Amino acid sequence: MIGGGIAGLITARELSRSSLRVLVLEARDRLGGRVWTDHRLGRDLEIGGTWLHWVQPHVWAEITRYGLEVTRGPRPEEAYWLAGDEVRKGTLDGFMELIDPGMRRLLADTMRWIPRPDQPLAEPELAEVDACSIQDKLDELHLPVEERQANEAAWVGHFNAPLDEGAFTSGLRWTAATAGSWHLMHEASAVFRLATGTRSLVEAIVADVDAEIRTSTEVRRIEHDAEGAVITTASGEQIHARRVVVTLPHNIIGDLDVSPALCAEKLAASKEKTASKGVKAWIRVRGPIKPFFAYSSASHPLSVVRTEYLGDDDAVLVAFGADAQKISPDDLDAVRAALRVWRDDLEVLEVTGHDWMSDPYSRETWLMHRPHQLTRYLQAQQRPEGVLHFASSDNANLWAGFIDGAIESGLRVARELTAQLTASR
Ligand SMILES: Cc1cc2nc3c(=O)[nH]c(=O)nc-3n(C[C@H](O)[C@H](O)[C@H](O)COP(=O)(O)OP(=O)(O)OC[C@H]3O[C@@H](n4cnc5c(N)ncnc54)[C@H](O)[C@@H]3O)c2cc1C
Repeated sequence: MIGGGIAGLITARELSRSSLRVLVLEARDRLGGRVWTDHRLGRDLEIGGTWLHWVQPHVWAEITRYGLEVTRGPRPEEAYWLAGDEVRKGTLDGFMELIDPGMRRLLADTMRWIPRPDQPLAEPELAEVDACSIQDKLDELHLPVEERQANEAAWVGHFNAPLDEGAFTSGLRWTAATAGSWHLMHEASAVFRLATGTRSLVEAIVADVDAEIRTSTEVRRIEHDAEGAVITTASGEQIHARRVVVTLPHNIIGDLDVSPALCAEKLAASKEKTASKGVKAWIRVRGPIKPFFAYSSASHPLSVVRTEYLGDDDAVLVAFGADAQKISPDDLDAVRAALRVWRDDLEVLEVTGHDWMSDPYSRETWLMHRPHQLTRYLQAQQRPEGVLHFASSDNANLWAGFIDGAIESGLRVARELTAQLTASR
């Protein structure tokens, strides 16, 4: 197993249940990959993946299995958004009503294009709509400026990418997974989280894995043939395996030295990169404050911010922007300036985050495709190549890019491998 993120750990758990010998090689000094609960700003914060929902079947099954508790941040009592440069203040319901017409029109044909979200390529003419960016489709609506800015900012929250780079089909897939309801899609992607952090999910899976797990072990090279593979680590150690499961994210899989080389589609997708290249920032402000959320526009460094934790004398906000080049989550002054777009009454005390784009073991946040990538590459990204198999949230069918998708892909690959390996016993 190459990678000890959720996809790798789930695959390892399932394979070890079939009494297969499993070795997990993880480059970082911790497990979890793009989920990472870390103690910062006085709280256990999710630096990566956070929100999950009962409409996400794979992750919900794990929550039930391990008895994990789910909670949510405080309900916003105030909402801020922009009309041009003017700040509007209202309620959550008022903001939802503002974006509702745009959302409905944009997503009206969701179930025509993605009738089966678990089979995202089912519609034969999907390539036609997969050529469009989400920005192309928003532009076609000719929304008034206030609605346009609000809708665009909301989509930045979902895409973590410049909207002209994000595929419209990625938005359709999320909405199809909630049977066409944008409200439910919004809730599924951004409200409920694990009370004990994603760390508790990672720990529960690890406790259930009967395998050797090595951290701080970066894989550099894989040579493979019909009989098996030889893996070379950064320290030069060589490991022989009958099968290899590669769980590297879309953006870095092409950097791995594989011989014979991976198929052209996997390499092309990795070279093109995903659309998502944004930023997630955690911000501690002096309290007490009323819980709020705020949306600016797609072009602001932070498009979305909201209260996630409320203390007696402080509060912690979470914020997202489309482009990690525009703002560093560790830059106190830049984050202060970004918040002043809506509010100059907040005293920013501390900020933190992780630069996932520069991190050599991810170089992306959560998967959102560029136009054409779904129809050109997904099938090939899922396809085994000889003894190499590929599990990743980035190549999942249903909730690709989510924790749920990582679990789905791990279950799929483990099922295929178990069938092969136990049949040949
Ligand atoms: C900022 C952010 C916010 C997110 N928010 C949400 C959310 O709210 N809800 C949600 O469901 N999802 C969210 N996600 C997405 C979710 O976290 C990921 O889709 C999921 O965790 C990916 O799991 P994975 O196992 O497929 O990949 P990864 O977690 O990336 O695992 C791959 C593993 O491979 C390791 N690796 C890389 N290269 C090598 C190598 N050469 N040798 C050995 N090991 C290697 C990596 O260190 C990593 O551990 C978010 C992600 C980010 C970054």
